[in-house]
Amino acid sequence: MTSKTVPENDALLDAPDHVLSTLEKDGSRRWLRPKLAPGFWWHKRRIIAYMLMVIFVAIPHLQVNNKPLILLDIAARKFTIFGRTFLPTDTMLLALLILTVLFSIVLVTAVAGRVWCGWACPQTVYMEFLFRPIDRLFEGTKGKGGKPKKGMNGALQVARFAVYVVLCAFLAHTFLAYFVGVERLSEWVQRSPVEHPVPFFVMVFTVGLMLFDFMFFREQLCLIACPYGRFQSVMLDEQSMVVAYDHIRGEPRKKGKHAPDEKVGDCVDCNQCVVVCPTGIDIRKGLQMECINCTQCIDACDSVMEKVGSPTGLIRYSSQDSIAGKVRRLFRARTIVYPLILLCLMTGLVFAISTKTGFDSRIIRQTGAPFTLLPSLKVSNQFRLRLVNRTDETQSYSLSAEPDLGLGFEVMDPDKMTMDAGKSQLVPINITFDASLTRGSGRKEVTVTVKDSSDNQRELDFYLLGPR
Ligand code: SF4
Ligand code: SF4
Repeated sequence: MTSKTVPENDALLDAPDHVLSTLEKDGSRRWLRPKLAPGFWWHKRRIIAYMLMVIFVAIPHLQVNNKPLILLDIAARKFTIFGRTFLPTDTMLLALLILTVLFSIVLVTAVAGRVWCGWACPQTVYMEFLFRPIDRLFEGTKGKGGKPKKGMNGALQVARFAVYVVLCAFLAHTFLAYFVGVERLSEWVQRSPVEHPVPFFVMVFTVGLMLFDFMFFREQLCLIACPYGRFQSVMLDEQSMVVAYDHIRGEPRKKGKHAPDEKVGDCVDCNQCVVVCPTGIDIRKGLQMECINCTQCIDACDSVMEKVGSPTGLIRYSSQDSIAGKVRRLFRARTIVYPLILLCLMTGLVFAISTKTGFDSRIIRQTGAPFTLLPSLKVSNQFRLRLVNRTDETQSYSLSAEPDLGLGFEVMDPDKMTMDAGKSQLVPINITFDASLTRGSGRKEVTVTVKDSSDNQRELDFYLLGPR
C-alpha cells in the first residue's frame, strides 16, 4: 500500500472565515445573535407578527354555523374549513384546494418575493418576535440584541429553559387543537395521560420538536430544511420585489483610502446590515437563497444613512432590474398566466363547494345479467347505491320517483339506509317496474330522487334495462 504525501509548498487554499453564513472555518456551527434594528419595517412586522399570533391561538375557538372555523380531524378523516366539512372522498375539492394554495404562493412570490418568509411564516414570526426577545431578556441585551457581554449563569439558563418549555407546550396544545378541537383537548388535559397515551405522546413529541427548533435548530430550518427557499430561484425573476442592496449607489465603499478624484459610493462599510441579519448573510453580495426578506438590513442601513446624512434606501425593497436601472414591469408572462390559472382554480373551487349538499350519492349497476324477468311479469334491475352522509347528524335516506313510472324500490339491507355523520355505505337495491316501460328500445331513462331526514335531496339520472 502506498501513501501519497502532499508537498509542503503545495498548500491547499485557505477556507474563508465563514464557509457558509452559519458555518465556521473549522466546520463548527456559527451561532447567530443578530443585533436588533427597530426601524420602520420592524415596527410594521411586529404589529403583523402579534396579530398572527393572536389569530393562531384564536382560530380553534372560533365557530361558523355551529361548526369549528378550522378542524382537521385526521382520525375521523373529516376536514372542516370555514364551517364546511370535507371528506376524503372529496378528491376533486381537495385537489382544487391544494392547487389554489400552491398557485397563490407561486403568484405572491413572483410579484412580492419571499414576503411570506419575512412577514408571516410561523418560524420567523415566533423566532424573531417571541423567542429571540426572550433570549435578549435573559442575556441582558433587551431592545438591542447582539452578543451579550457575559454568559448566562446556571439559574438564568434554567429559568430561560422553563419559559421555553411553557411557551412550546402552549403552542403545541394550540397546534393540536386544530386537529382534535378545543373540547376534546381540554378534556384530555384534565384527565390522566394514561387514559389517552397516543395523544399524550403526540403532544410530548410536538413540544420536543418545537424546543429543538426554537432553541437549537433556529435559522437552519430556513437554510437547510425548508423547500420554499430552494424553489425561489424558479419562482422569482429579475422583476420580482426583493430586499436588495443598491450596488450602483453603494459601491465603491467609503472605507479605506481613495484617490481624490475617485467617486465613492454611499456604503460606509459599517457592517450593520450583516450583524442584524438573522441568517447571517451579507446582502451586499446580491440575492441569496438564505435571505428571508426580513427587512432588518433595510432598517439598519436606513438608520446609518440618516446618521451620515445620506438618503435612505441604499438597501430597499426593489427588483434586480430596478436596481440595474431598468424599467419595472408589473405585467409580464408569469404575472399574467399565474393569476389566470388561479382564477380558473378558484372558480372551480367555489363551484364545487357551492354545489355540495348534505350528502353524496351515486348509483352503480350490478355486474351480471342486465335485468331479471320476474314470475309476476315485472322486470327487476339490480344496483348499488353509494351514499355519503356529509352532515353532522345521523341521517335516514329514502328513494322516490315519478309515480306514473310505477317503480318499486326494494332495499336489500334496510339498516344501511340509516347512517352516522360522516359515514358512507354501499346499499344494494332492486328496482322493479312494469315490462311495458322498456318496450321498443329495451331501456328507459329515469330520474330517482334520494332524500335524507334533513330534507336534503339529490336527483340521480340513469337507465333501466328491460325486454324490448
Ligand atoms: S448598513 Fe448600509 S452602509 Fe452599512 S455596510 Fe450595510 S449597506 Fe453599507
Ligand atoms: S439579508 Fe436582510 S432581509 Fe435578508 S435575511 Fe438578512 S437581514 Fe433579512
